[in-house]
Amino acid sequence: MHLRHITNCPNDAEYTTHRRRKGALIWQIYTCRQHRRLSDWYVPSNLRRLDSSEPPHPCGLVYDHRSGPDVLLSHINGWMAVGTWADAPVADTDWAGRLRDAHRFATYLRQEELAAAIADVMRLADAEAWNQVVALLAETENRRLPR
Ligand SMILES: [Zn+2]
Repeated sequence: MHLRHITNCPNDAEYTTHRRRKGALIWQIYTCRQHRRLSDWYVPSNLRRLDSSEPPHPCGLVYDHRSGPDVLLSHINGWMAVGTWADAPVADTDWAGRLRDAHRFATYLRQEELAAAIADVMRLADAEAWNQVVALLAETENRRLPR
């Protein structure tokens, strides 16, 4: 399980929602009232209000139960908003190819800090150091969050 924090919101969570696949929990997010409809993280049918007996969580906390490659793809397809390139299209599930796309995209946009972080992620992913990959992606995502 990996921890992510996808908002810079100072509030405690009032709501939680989650996504399951074949009965297994994929992720669970905690949010305040204002952030309960974050795109990519909004599953209205599973949204419920936290009750006072539950331990407090900061808004934006995610318990992510996906595999390292799946978390990596969720970062690329989520906040990185990386498309694929017409001259060399890559399958959605090809994490190495998608990572190369992300690096090319960040370089093209002259986002040097992001490109450097993606280069580090590429080296770690090649070594299958998934915990470090996920931690570095979470840290990079946090630095880039809108206030
Ligand atoms: Zn919030």
